[in-house]
Amino acid sequence: MFKKILVANRGEIALRIQRACRELGVKAVMVYSEADRDAKYVKLAEEAVCIGPATSALSYLNMPAIISAAEVTDAEAIHPGYGFLSENADFAERVEKSGFQFIGPSPESIRTMGDKVSAKQTMIKAGVPCVPGSEGELPEDALQIRRIAKAVGYPVIIKAAGGGGGRGMRVVHTEAALVNAVQTTRAEAGAAFGNSAVYLEKFLQNPRHVEIQIMADKFRNAVYLGERDCSMQRRHQKVIEEAPAPGIARKLIERIGERCVAACKKLGYRGAGTFEFLYENGEFYFIEMNTRVQVEHPVTELVTGIDIVKTQIMVAAGEKLPFTQRQIVMRGHAIECRINAEDPYKFVPSPGRVTMWHPPGGPGVRVDSHIYTNYLVPPNYDSMIGKIIVHGDTREQALARMRSALGETVIEGISTNVALHRELMVDAKFMGGGTNIHYLEEWLARHKR
Ligand code: ADP
Repeated sequence: MFKKILVANRGEIALRIQRACRELGVKAVMVYSEADRDAKYVKLAEEAVCIGPATSALSYLNMPAIISAAEVTDAEAIHPGYGFLSENADFAERVEKSGFQFIGPSPESIRTMGDKVSAKQTMIKAGVPCVPGSEGELPEDALQIRRIAKAVGYPVIIKAAGGGGGRGMRVVHTEAALVNAVQTTRAEAGAAFGNSAVYLEKFLQNPRHVEIQIMADKFRNAVYLGERDCSMQRRHQKVIEEAPAPGIARKLIERIGERCVAACKKLGYRGAGTFEFLYENGEFYFIEMNTRVQVEHPVTELVTGIDIVKTQIMVAAGEKLPFTQRQIVMRGHAIECRINAEDPYKFVPSPGRVTMWHPPGGPGVRVDSHIYTNYLVPPNYDSMIGKIIVHGDTREQALARMRSALGETVIEGISTNVALHRELMVDAKFMGGGTNIHYLEEWLARHKR
């Protein structure tokens, strides 16, 4: 096991990794920007290094600053968390060339999966079902583009090969709008991701977002830790996640889980990863793979009892997976609400000082948050300030626990989306389970204020 690792991230995930390190008896070096000097995990840290000013490009995305922080503190490995440099293959490569272990898959795996076109081609080869679409990148020729779209059938969605975070996508309903949409998406993708390659796939009308969590070691052992339903989204961003996915037969989950495991073994994948699927009419369609720990990992941890972050660190240190597929049992139901510092209905970010923070508690309630009373939420980063996660024997019990937890939650000084979550937890359709990826946006449109 490592003696010391460097945590190259901020916010709740930095605290989450710090906690995993404590349990493993590994020292954690925290890095921070000038805006995060007062963060909880920095105050709790045995060692912390300032890596630059508030602007992410100069701190959390600053590879030389992060690598030299690892050098001066004698860390052996770097955990990238999620976001920032976590899916940057060049970073993983530089980390390893500098003599540190990257806590994640190999740079090659990250590169292959980071390009959605090569990811899809890899999955097709590995026998994972994908959304029907263009075989690879779209050509320049307008006639050929039209031919491909016609064969797939409208509506189609144009997606950037390098896209992420719900950006770089455009839905097209008619042939008349097609070529223009391809050109616009190409131009945007070039500017936003430095890669103007785009591809096309069938736009599924009413799918759910269901993803499979996998974990693999470097001895080609791989397992799946069940699924998560992340269909409650706004602008392609997840808002509520749960495990298991309501109403999907275990047999179907097992079949797709086994496909993902086989793909991991074939790829020689190591570490944690997520296969994201759209699920419609009983079928799974792969959309992308995330090669890192995800925001919503706690719902899986609560139903499986497995600590995903600790396992990530263990397999990066060269240990074998400490469990086999047969030992993984899903118990009960877990739900996560992402708490954002924003207006609950207008979604305008609301950074500033938290004058009062009273987190919920009680049986089956988990809070992953780095905030505290008097904490200043900086305006420079993502608006997520924490997550409330609950576990119950049944989905009904988990819902009741979440309602109770949200009822106890007090955050003053800034606006948060707690009020929105409270309303969604009593919405009849959501309570019924199995809402599709458009449901939240439709709900918001109906409840316009
Ligand atoms: P990102 O990497 O930006 O998160 P994804 O490929 O994971 O992009 O897609 C994000 C979301 O966009 C999905 O969860 C889904 O809501 C929507 N989406 C993506 N592809 C399709 C599709 N073919 N049909 C319908 N919706 C889609």
